[in-house]
Amino acid sequence: MNDLKQYEVWFVAGSQDLYGAETLAKVAANSKTIAQALDAAPRMPVRVVFKAVLTTPDAIKNLCLEANAAAKCVGLVAWMHTFSPAKMWIAGLRILAKPYVHLHTQFNREIPWATIDMDFMNLNQAAHGDREFGFICTRLRQNRKVIAGPWEDEGVRAALDVWARAACAWHDAQGGKIARIGDNMREVAVTEGDKVEAQIRLGYAVNGYSVGDVLRYIDAVTDAEIDALCAEYDARYEVAPALRPQGERRAALRYAARTELGLRAFLTEGGFKGFTDTFENLQGLKQLPGIAVQRLMAAGYGFGAEGDWKQAALVRAMKVMATGLPGGTSFMEDYTYHFHPGGASVLGAHMLEICESVAAGKPSCEIHPLGIGGKDDPVRLVFNSRTGPAVNATVIDLGNRFRMVVNTVDVMAPPAPLPKLPVARAVWVPRPDLQTAATAWILAGGAHHTGYSLAIGAAHLEDFAAMADIEFVAIDDGTRLSAFKKELRWNELYYHLARGL
Ligand code: MN
Repeated sequence: MNDLKQYEVWFVAGSQDLYGAETLAKVAANSKTIAQALDAAPRMPVRVVFKAVLTTPDAIKNLCLEANAAAKCVGLVAWMHTFSPAKMWIAGLRILAKPYVHLHTQFNREIPWATIDMDFMNLNQAAHGDREFGFICTRLRQNRKVIAGPWEDEGVRAALDVWARAACAWHDAQGGKIARIGDNMREVAVTEGDKVEAQIRLGYAVNGYSVGDVLRYIDAVTDAEIDALCAEYDARYEVAPALRPQGERRAALRYAARTELGLRAFLTEGGFKGFTDTFENLQGLKQLPGIAVQRLMAAGYGFGAEGDWKQAALVRAMKVMATGLPGGTSFMEDYTYHFHPGGASVLGAHMLEICESVAAGKPSCEIHPLGIGGKDDPVRLVFNSRTGPAVNATVIDLGNRFRMVVNTVDVMAPPAPLPKLPVARAVWVPRPDLQTAATAWILAGGAHHTGYSLAIGAAHLEDFAAMADIEFVAIDDGTRLSAFKKELRWNELYYHLARGL
């Protein structure tokens, strides 16, 4: 997951045989030029591979079949340099199982007024060729992204970058496995959901495991492995005196290291991409996993607390999208509010499990009582989040569909030190403001658990939701509650009817 360059998007140009070999050769050359420029663009996270100029229904269908079967291909970029009669695309698009983006661009940037002739017009007709293609995509009721503008522009490349990252996360989710260790926190509603529907709709499988399945791995960890990991903790974190090599609570740190190693081995051997646990179901574990979960998230695993498998899968997807970007991505929870007259903000945290990828500085490694769960005091990393623009996202199951809710927020440094709060935390101001955002979030049924990222934006998540064909609602600077309420009601109608479309 460390390098999205292992993935490819395939660039295809649509045309037809009507134009003759000379024009088609130019179409191919120009398409290749664009694909190569996109491939070489520093911001492009994946390889962009020029595949073909497609001029017949069979060629289109075969290319789509090839894309479906190609393990590295996460999606297609389609561009109609010339006019490509779109009935030719029906068979291919109907079987295409990968996401696609319609790049509505033009090889030449400007019109050469002094020299333009009919040969030029014949070659450079994306302005209407792409409309024909757009019609059939819409007629087929297919979700796709449309990016319009000059292919040299940074804005166009940024939009393609966002889409490609979402496509990688989508690819990663297909066949992905989430381990639900223990079940749900008892009586909690929002963390439940239809796992069968999630697998159909979102591609990942959620299966349950007992803590005993993990304990086998935890018990098998050797002292030498624990020594090595504790040395890494000592070097990497500001370790509390009691947890240091000669400290009186070193044994607790060693147990935390054992838990991390065992959990990691369980996840590795099972090929899992994310996991959940729940403090009500930890028989045999001495501590609730704190630092273990924090570090496994930093290694790329999705995580959801209290059995929240939807957020575990979402955090994983967000981490894939964020690959190589600065900022960090974590599981998060809205915890408590600061209704200050000068501006209201949210303190986000969890009992323990915030990913160290969002840490502003060197985390401190501490041990404190938890006050819940009835276990030994857990070891955890404590830090403030980095600051800057961020998103909080959640996926909920409404019974007839999944809804993703995304709120753009601005993360700030805590206005004062928090010497008595022994958990990792983030302080943010939601957009457009706390009261509007919280009202909208609650009306939308958004969970208290979220995926939180300073690395990606709402646009990544919107593209991902479109690939999954799930509902997406954004809460941002443009949110007005009266319109938002109507959007929710209209969406109820749409998703009810869409089952028959
Ligand atoms: Mn929670």
